[in-house]
Amino acid sequence: MKESILLLIETQVLDDRLVVLDRRLNSLLVELGEGESRVSVLEAEAEDTEGERKACLARARDIENDLLIDEARAIKWEDESNRMRDVGSAEIARQKVQTLRDKIAGEEEEALSLLEKAEVLVGRIQEAKETMKEASVEFQTFRTTVKEDQKTLEEEKANVVARKSVALDSVAMEARAAYEKLVDSRNGQPLAVIRGSSCAGCGMTVPPNDMGRAMGLTGLVACRSCSRILIPDQVWKDATGDGDEAAGEGSSEG
Ligand SMILES: [Zn+2]
Repeated sequence: MKESILLLIETQVLDDRLVVLDRRLNSLLVELGEGESRVSVLEAEAEDTEGERKACLARARDIENDLLIDEARAIKWEDESNRMRDVGSAEIARQKVQTLRDKIAGEEEEALSLLEKAEVLVGRIQEAKETMKEASVEFQTFRTTVKEDQKTLEEEKANVVARKSVALDSVAMEARAAYEKLVDSRNGQPLAVIRGSSCAGCGMTVPPNDMGRAMGLTGLVACRSCSRILIPDQVWKDATGDGDEAAGEGSSEG
């Protein structure tokens, strides 16, 4: 049974490593997504500004068309007012001409300011495109680095998975079953070191009888409180060369 216990320790260490590797792989994905969306936002900004400029130009064109029509109408009323004999009608016609002239002046002003705005937007579009291009180049470089990191991590992960599989395959069947039964419910830590005379997984005191059996390494001894498989501190340290961080520590759940 000692051999199986040592293999289970190795398995849990490898499981811990897998958790770290998965976390790092995930954070790379998150970083990639963030970088990508930064570029998209800049792209959208450039497009929006382009759209705004087009709208300004279109509106200016419409106003200029209205202006031409108003101009023609003003000329027509001017001619008519000159030909009218009735003083009252001529005055009304002149007022119409004046109203149209005022309207034309307003339209000219509006069209001009729209064209000026479109001109300003040309500069902003240029800036936005440059910023986007820089961000895009930066992102490509970043992505290349991330892809390399991903590859390295994936390779290590495959290696760890293979080693874990080899270790688990050599564990006695019932010990393997006990480990696998606990792996999900105990947050990937089915083993707990006996620290002093307590289970490091849940803090519960290990009864002397269980303690003796665990120390003997003749069979699996489960913590009576959290069900984790109890491992003598020294055995864990010898197996992992790890004096600081032992199994089950840091997890507060029962
Ligand atoms: Zn416990």
